[in-house]
Amino acid sequence: MNTMQKKLYLGMLVLCGVGMAGTAPSMGGSSGGGGGLAEKNFVMAHQNIANYASICLASAACRLTTDQTTLLDKIVRQMPGEGRAEVQLVFDSEKANPGMFYLDGAVRVAKTGGKVGDTIYVNRDMLYTKDASGVTNAMTLPTAVAILVHELGHHHGATDHTALDALGGKVEAYLGQHSQVLDGWLWDVPIRVTAIYPVGNSPKATPLKGFTQVIFSDTDSLFDITPQIEALDVCYEQRTDTFVPAQASFVYNMAWEQHSYYLNHLGDPGPGFKYMRVNADKVATCGANGDTIGGYWIDLLLRLAPDGAVLGIEKVFVEKQVF
Ligand SMILES: [Zn+2]
Repeated sequence: MNTMQKKLYLGMLVLCGVGMAGTAPSMGGSSGGGGGLAEKNFVMAHQNIANYASICLASAACRLTTDQTTLLDKIVRQMPGEGRAEVQLVFDSEKANPGMFYLDGAVRVAKTGGKVGDTIYVNRDMLYTKDASGVTNAMTLPTAVAILVHELGHHHGATDHTALDALGGKVEAYLGQHSQVLDGWLWDVPIRVTAIYPVGNSPKATPLKGFTQVIFSDTDSLFDITPQIEALDVCYEQRTDTFVPAQASFVYNMAWEQHSYYLNHLGDPGPGFKYMRVNADKVATCGANGDTIGGYWIDLLLRLAPDGAVLGIEKVFVEKQVF
């Protein structure tokens, strides 16, 4: 390696703090689990990253190169060794702890070491942005996935930050294409519903692997209702005249329910609350019994301010539509 190459290599090495000394937990840090919506998106991204990366790995449309496939596959296979999100992720702040994220002339969003299981430090100061109208936006789940793919890539010997950004960006972009986002902002309701489809490009993909993940968020909380949906995803088995769990399912076509009949049907939520409803279709894979189609009503009990503005989600409950 000549001097020029060496300089370049070192320059890239410090860009996001790979293998830097002094990565002991700082007093200002806090491990995953607490915090606002962006921190919760990071924890959710970490808990599901093997699934999200597998969705990309399973599709040619994610457009990974051979090297990217090899690295992403290593990241997926080694996730059990990385440890739980609540332990591995530490949120800190450059403002509270100057120098913590200052590397190579700029403040960075995250840093980690070079081994599987190393702590990933995330800079809380960069997780929230204000838009032109002064509204604060939390970093989204797909962006948190991109940052984590980058940081986890360092645990497998990858040192090129630009290349890791490219890989994280592909996983993020494909996750966006492979999901449906339903926003409540048209009704001034700060709620977002994200359905992330399982491996397989359509409800008819053979085989469809896994269940659609359905996540509701308000300005500071996440509600993952996938377990409730899975529990309702049953298939009728004629032979035994019983219902058995579906092998996979696809929840799609989510839309806000606008018919007041359906909302009135939910009853009076009481003062300070109101209901909203999301309608969704589904196809469940039932093995030898083929597929079943159907749908869900996903009802939200919302907390209101005295002026009627929606403050957040109190409760989410799922009801199966019987056809
Ligand atoms: Zn990096």
